[in-house]
Amino acid sequence: MTSVDFDTIVIGAGAHGSAAAWALARRGARVCALDRWAPPHARGSSHGRTRIIREAYFEHPAYVPLVRRAYELWSELERATGRTLFRRTGGLTLGAENGVLVSGALRSAREHGVEHELLDAAGIARRAPALAPPRGTVGVLEHRAGMLFAERCVEALRVAAREHGARLETGERVLRWDASGSAVTVTTDRGTYRALRAILAAGAWLAPLAPDLGVPLVVERQVIHWLTPRRHPERVTARHLPVAIWEYEPGRMFYVIPDVGDGLKAALHHQGPTVDPDAPAVPASEREQADVLALVERFVPDAAGIVSESATCLYTNTPDGHFIVDAYPGAPDVLVASACSGHGFKFAPAIGEALADLALGTEPRVDLTAFRLSRFATRPPPA
Ligand SMILES: Cc1cc2nc3c(=O)[nH]c(=O)nc-3n(C[C@H](O)[C@H](O)[C@H](O)COP(=O)(O)OP(=O)(O)OC[C@H]3O[C@@H](n4cnc5c(N)ncnc54)[C@H](O)[C@@H]3O)c2cc1C
Repeated sequence: MTSVDFDTIVIGAGAHGSAAAWALARRGARVCALDRWAPPHARGSSHGRTRIIREAYFEHPAYVPLVRRAYELWSELERATGRTLFRRTGGLTLGAENGVLVSGALRSAREHGVEHELLDAAGIARRAPALAPPRGTVGVLEHRAGMLFAERCVEALRVAAREHGARLETGERVLRWDASGSAVTVTTDRGTYRALRAILAAGAWLAPLAPDLGVPLVVERQVIHWLTPRRHPERVTARHLPVAIWEYEPGRMFYVIPDVGDGLKAALHHQGPTVDPDAPAVPASEREQADVLALVERFVPDAAGIVSESATCLYTNTPDGHFIVDAYPGAPDVLVASACSGHGFKFAPAIGEALADLALGTEPRVDLTAFRLSRFATRPPPA
């Protein structure tokens, strides 16, 4: 029998890698998750205090079963760790009725029976007095949406993984892996490990570890901002304001997350430049702050006081904006996850569970067909 150190080595232990480690460890697998830094950290894609979770999924209905499973697992993680990870605020998807946001959210809601209300501009302003929707704006209001406390979630996943016996190494950078022998050999800047399987979950740094992926991954800079309201601060708190994504021009979106003590969080969704994740992050520019302030001035005027804080973060985008969760080409014992494209955090425990299923050879609970690599070779992206 092959002598190995672990059943599975997870390369990258941010949101998805830690979730995979938790899922594997609680099923009795010997798992080691390696990270070049110490998650939760502020260099990758999982920092910035909050993330939106929503179910009327404008990106594609295929994500709805996945997010439903994620809701269950986030609750389980809250119970297991005794930490509050989620706050329900309701969620609004706003824009023109025929825009990609609203029409996509309605499609998912209708196909999967997601409880929702369709609001006109007056209805939106009644539900969320801080919002100033122009005439003709419609909103899809879903009740179960809210925010996840991002760093707390990553920390909780790691605590839970460790409690089930996972080994979590930090400050250890994976240099390469090799699956050509009887086991997967992982070489780091500290040593060499052998495992039956490996999972690549390196976020913005996946591309150099996955040279045969056959799919370009583009790392995009994103800037997030916190604003001190200029009046009616209570209107932008989680009691009165749902998390909201707004298609303010065709194909252009920004989002706001209510103030939970540090100001209203606001950011553009995409529209950032391509960057090298290894280059030092450039702080937010005055222009980037002014752009977001102008949008808040237009659509959430009460909140348009001053930008009190900004931070940068990274999206890792696939060509069609959908996730990759699959076996690595030519290496069936190596799995690869790129569950970002700017919307992957909410799914982390469900993606982790799916990766564990694939690693352990059990049928994934959620259909992963939409996330296979073969879609890039043989058919157009999901319609
Ligand atoms: C500004 C912003 C806002 C977002 N908003 C939302 C939202 O509201 N809702 C939502 O669902 N999603 C959102 N997302 C997307 C979501 O946060 C990401 O999809 C998710 O965090 C990706 O997790 P990850 O595990 O892939 O990456 P990360 O958590 O960054 O983890 C990757 C890890 O791999 C490690 N690593 C890399 N290379 C190596 C190596 N060679 N050796 C060892 N370790 C390595 C890194 O140190 C890192 O810890 C947002 C993202 C950003 C940037």
